[in-house]
Amino acid sequence: MSESKLIESDYDVVIVGGGMVGASVACALLQASETQSLRIAIVEGQAFNFEFAEGFDPRVSAISLASRKLMEVMDVWPKIAQQRLCPYQRMSVWDAEGTGGVDFSALDMGEVALGHIIENRVVLASLLHKIQQFPSLQWYCPNKLEALNRLDDRWLLTLANGLECSAKLIIGADGAHSVVRNLCGIDHSEMPYDHRAVVTTIKTERAHECVARQRFMPKGPLAFLPLLDDGGAEDYCSVVWSLDSDEAEQILGLEDEAFCEAISRASEHCLGEVVSASKRFSFPLIQRHANQYVRPGVALVGDAAHTIHPLAGQGVNLGFMDAAALVEELNRGVQRGLPIGDLSVLRRYERRRRGPNTLMIQSMRGFKELFAADALPVRWVRNFGLSVTDSVTPLKHHFMAHAMGLKGDVPRMARGIKI
Ligand SMILES: Cc1cc2nc3c(=O)[nH]c(=O)nc-3n(C[C@H](O)[C@H](O)[C@H](O)COP(=O)(O)OP(=O)(O)OC[C@H]3O[C@@H](n4cnc5c(N)ncnc54)[C@H](O)[C@@H]3O)c2cc1C
Repeated sequence: MSESKLIESDYDVVIVGGGMVGASVACALLQASETQSLRIAIVEGQAFNFEFAEGFDPRVSAISLASRKLMEVMDVWPKIAQQRLCPYQRMSVWDAEGTGGVDFSALDMGEVALGHIIENRVVLASLLHKIQQFPSLQWYCPNKLEALNRLDDRWLLTLANGLECSAKLIIGADGAHSVVRNLCGIDHSEMPYDHRAVVTTIKTERAHECVARQRFMPKGPLAFLPLLDDGGAEDYCSVVWSLDSDEAEQILGLEDEAFCEAISRASEHCLGEVVSASKRFSFPLIQRHANQYVRPGVALVGDAAHTIHPLAGQGVNLGFMDAAALVEELNRGVQRGLPIGDLSVLRRYERRRRGPNTLMIQSMRGFKELFAADALPVRWVRNFGLSVTDSVTPLKHHFMAHAMGLKGDVPRMARGIKI
């Protein structure tokens, strides 16, 4: 990987942030029919890691069918599949405060899997392996965007090491604390969920049988996401346990044995005893939404535009759909002879993505509040709602299709169509 030594380099597109979403934007731009000949650079704050590590990454994502199709179209999926993933054929969700529950099955949808649990570093390393094959892509890594200035029809970027370059379009894929968003003066709303997510990897007494499990408790949901180790054993799960800050502190402070006991109890021993757990990490959970996704010559994608509660495992899937929709619109714009940072093109992207993202943000807030409510009538309605959902097939299909990313305006690449 060669870092540009030029003080002034002129790009069509600079992607700021090489996380899963920024790397997927680069990968799609480098392969779409009209954008592949653009001059593209990527700026990433951390050194890229192309290696697939042996042990499980504590950060995993439930990757939807639509996101899988995007990875397939970009020829990234074979690399992911060659590493580690776990298809989940069923998902079981139940209320700790009652008898209501729903079981979703891939067979009901005519699919082999509802989705795949994949370690974040497997997704990222596979994307990086792919984009490495395009020598035209310029990397600034590790390096950070520090300042932005508008010069006529382009932006002048100043990086942490003093390098300067210019771009007609900047794509802000730099995560929840987006510097691009801040430097462009794009406001965002912020609403804490009053939860921290404790994540770790556990080994359980019983095999998970490729079922994703989530128990909703008043203090927050506990998810067991199935993992397959290199030998195909089914006794590892990635855990995402959402708790209020005090409880999260307490749980994080437990010794291994006490933690295993606590999580076995909290999961109602659904997989028997938790026999071991790796190191625990925690993340504050905050809902954020940018007031605009675009400005002249600027577009925000992924966590830079929105962050949501992980209870439905949708955050990065929304980001991948942003990436696919943005590249589709940019490709169409170039086809029509429009300049790359043209606001009318960027606005089409924003119009396509704001609605679905808002709907998901509101749904996550609603679910979180609904399951936190302790009042008896709410608990009754909640359990009744879960039982009805479980028994009414069209309703179940509707929820599953949403979670799999198959509903609404799905970008072409996420439907498996090359652009
Ligand atoms: C506990 C937990 C569980 C989750 N589970 C799921 C799940 O099951 N399914 C799902 O879809 N989503 C899930 N999510 C959400 C998902 O992890 C995020 O949506 C996703 O990681 C966002 O990716 P991103 O590329 O937009 O941002 P990031 O991963 O934050 O990447 C941003 C990148 O930008 C770089 N950067 C930042 N500032 C600069 C700068 N100034 N200059 C250059 N580079 C910069 C950073 O180094 C980083 O690499 C979960 C989130 C949490 C917290």
